[in-house]
Amino acid sequence: MAVTAVLAEAARALLYPPRCVFCGEITRFARVFYDEENFSKYTCDSCGEPLEPLSASKTPLCAQCGAENAGAGERCPACARRETALSGNYALFLFERRPRRLVLALKDGERVEPLLRTVIKGCLDAGRFSGADFLAPVPPWEGRPDHAGLIARIVSDITGVPALAGVMERVLPPGADKIPEQKRTHPSKRFENALGTVFLAGRDKNLRKSEILAKGIFLIDDIYTTGGTMNACASVLLEAGAAWAKGFTVCAARE
Ligand SMILES: [Zn+2]
Ligand SMILES: [Zn+2]
Repeated sequence: MAVTAVLAEAARALLYPPRCVFCGEITRFARVFYDEENFSKYTCDSCGEPLEPLSASKTPLCAQCGAENAGAGERCPACARRETALSGNYALFLFERRPRRLVLALKDGERVEPLLRTVIKGCLDAGRFSGADFLAPVPPWEGRPDHAGLIARIVSDITGVPALAGVMERVLPPGADKIPEQKRTHPSKRFENALGTVFLAGRDKNLRKSEILAKGIFLIDDIYTTGGTMNACASVLLEAGAAWAKGFTVCAARE
């Protein structure tokens, strides 16, 4: 790090004392969780323990969303009600406690990339990506930050599976003048709303299709809630000739 950058970082640390990403405690004297060189983010001692991935859970996981499945079936009740083009989702964590804080910090634009990288690296089973030809991040709405793209690059670095950005784009449905507020929408409606908002990107659709044809593709996103967006992406990819589309998300939410 250049001297000026170090000074700027030090001044920043004085003005805004580092806080634990997970619980918000000021952590000036706490240990650095992930990266000695980057002193802008810390975790407190009690939050610095490694995270436990869902794959270590004793409760069976839903074959569709990847969350812990409290029901008796192969899929959780909410997933069992839906037809999806996605062949299952691999989620690292439930959208709870520390993983939830991490994803929310990412969405809030906090500088959590190194921490996110450490967490994913510590928990990812790279074997789950074997046979995949490429990773495709779920496209952001125009002008919105590309969190899925960041996660795809991290997963690509760990697994060696290439990440292909810009395969798809998200477009507002006809007549809509703003991005739908997902939080206020009923889950089943939310799932349906996502269909028809994802398209192959770029002018040359035939070139796009040739990239996708017969490929095994992992869709990447930060969180799986209803799976609506992922399913919309999977439909587009399968229609364009993909062999299969599976999902990977940092978190899966219980509906
Ligand atoms: Zn903490
Ligand atoms: Zn499920």
